[in-house]
Amino acid sequence: MYERFLKEFDAKLAVCFERDASAIKCQKGCTFCCENADYPLSRLEMEYLMQGFLQLDKEKHDRVREKIKHLIRVKPDIYPCPFLLNGECSVYPCRPLTCRVHGLAYMRCDGIVKLPECARNGLNYSENFDGQTINFEPIKEDLNLDKIFAAHPEFDFGEIRSMIDWFS
Ligand code: SF4
Ligand code: SF4
Repeated sequence: MYERFLKEFDAKLAVCFERDASAIKCQKGCTFCCENADYPLSRLEMEYLMQGFLQLDKEKHDRVREKIKHLIRVKPDIYPCPFLLNGECSVYPCRPLTCRVHGLAYMRCDGIVKLPECARNGLNYSENFDGQTINFEPIKEDLNLDKIFAAHPEFDFGEIRSMIDWFS
């Protein structure tokens, strides 16, 4: 059931990415967003992510496990995602919702436009954003996690924590 939801959710996001294609610079090997965040995710998403982790081959599994152990020791606020291996997401089909939405600019229900961090780094929407104002129409749907969860009461998403807090 969750997988069917993900399929539909991804299809909806694909339309958004297509709509904004001229402002989107996402491509294989671009990893800024997987190296500089705290990756909030719910218990349900974490359980699904761990399914992906358990399916990794031994070499990848061991590398991810070492990264996780390092994070638990150092406890940084912002950190590279431990599932990023050789510039690619090793658990891509099982990645959290934040990772799926990330890269899009959307209007929150409080009227604030949420831009991806990389807009300040010459990437997505950077040509439509001068550091303060934007000159394009953001997607008119609040894609924050809490709003996505509220729209899908059929799932028990559970509490949200930073990825590192699920490991600690
Ligand atoms: S969201 Fe930004 S940092 Fe992430 S892949 Fe796309 S362009 Fe690169
Ligand atoms: S789970 Fe995958 S897509 Fe999400 S931050 Fe980690 S490496 Fe990036």
